[in-house]
Amino acid sequence: MSRDAQRAVVAGGGIVGTWHALELVRAGFSVDHLEADAAPAGASVRNFGLVWVSGRRSGEELDVALRARRRWEEVGAEVPGLGFRPSGSLTVACSAAEREVMQSFARHPDAGVRSVSFLEPDEVRACNPALGGDIAGALHCSRDAVVEPRLALGALREHLATRAAPGRYRFHPGCRVVAAEAHALIDTAGTPWDGDLVVVATGAAYDHLPGSEGLGARLRRVRLQMLETAPFAPRLTTALADADTLRYYPAYEVVPLELLGEQSTVAADHHLQLLVVQRPDGGLTIGDTHAYGEPFDFALSEDPTGELLARARRTLGAELPPVRRRWEGVYAQCADGGVCLREEIRPGVFIVTGPGGRGMTCAPAIAADTLKVAGVVS
Ligand SMILES: Cc1cc2nc3c(=O)[nH]c(=O)nc-3n(C[C@H](O)[C@H](O)[C@H](O)COP(=O)(O)OP(=O)(O)OC[C@H]3O[C@@H](n4cnc5c(N)ncnc54)[C@H](O)[C@@H]3O)c2cc1C
Repeated sequence: MSRDAQRAVVAGGGIVGTWHALELVRAGFSVDHLEADAAPAGASVRNFGLVWVSGRRSGEELDVALRARRRWEEVGAEVPGLGFRPSGSLTVACSAAEREVMQSFARHPDAGVRSVSFLEPDEVRACNPALGGDIAGALHCSRDAVVEPRLALGALREHLATRAAPGRYRFHPGCRVVAAEAHALIDTAGTPWDGDLVVVATGAAYDHLPGSEGLGARLRRVRLQMLETAPFAPRLTTALADADTLRYYPAYEVVPLELLGEQSTVAADHHLQLLVVQRPDGGLTIGDTHAYGEPFDFALSEDPTGELLARARRTLGAELPPVRRRWEGVYAQCADGGVCLREEIRPGVFIVTGPGGRGMTCAPAIAADTLKVAGVVS
């Protein structure tokens, strides 16, 4: 690709598209950023905002997450609106068996790279005094961080438009892409948007474009349920997770998970784990469930909600404020467990999707890697 022809088009206003726009602008491109809806409302605004290094599989995935974490911190220092907080996480053990599995993870050779250690119950309470429940210890990861998912996209766009690249970044909400050609996308009005590099980051809508038909077999959609409470007065100094997260995050493939025994029926039925993040106003984002088979239920289901709230109450040892919002979200995940799918579907047109439950974490490094693959940067 010629370095003097520097126009790029990015479709998709979620975190993957937005971070591609940011890295393209940084590399000197002028970027047109197309978003189908009036404002992005996909997985990127529905998530916890966890920049979650602790659960990443050793090797490429951990490397991507660590690079991304550094970039979140760097840009977070320039863009306070991201709400980046390096607050770490505690994955809490409630039984001797959970404790043993976590201790074994803390002995893994990668524990230092992740900044993971095992804390005894009194150390856990010193780290996060809001934990008033009966706990048997916890894995602490000081590299885990949080951003504000409902603010981050707007904050990044504002940064691009007004500070990083005035005149070189244009956001086009309400612009739905319906076709791809060499070095171009076509919107519903038939308008072509052409660029030297074109990135399609339409999240779970990965199979809606001509040329993307073959991708369906390599990706799947996953539906999650979440909720948020009214402000909870005690301050949570870290994000929280429970031992069921060990069953889902690939980092923990190396530990004796069989010691955890069977999940409860409701947890197994909904592939449930507890994650808790406190928002700046004190509200608690609590989740989540996973459904893998389409078509998904259109309704939110109460059983897992009750279970998640009960677990959060037990861990915090306190009553929770009322729930003020519940929602679902759908993400695209690579069927082979890869970090993401990046495919040139037309000359100069790359679709980038499928980061699964790690897209908010890894988007900065995924975007940087697309520029390398496309030969834009070395
Ligand atoms: C409930 C939930 C919790 C999660 N928690 C976390 C977490 O804490 N940490 C983490 O790392 N990851 C988390 N994830 C995963 C993460 O949110 C996703 O991997 C990530 O947001 C995917 O980003 P994206 O930009 O690919 O997709 P999206 O955010 O879905 O964005 C895609 C955008 O493309 C637009 N679009 C679609 N079709 C078109 C078209 N034809 N033309 C133009 N625009 C189009 C959509 O309107 C949308 O705005 C969570 C996901 C969910 C659902």
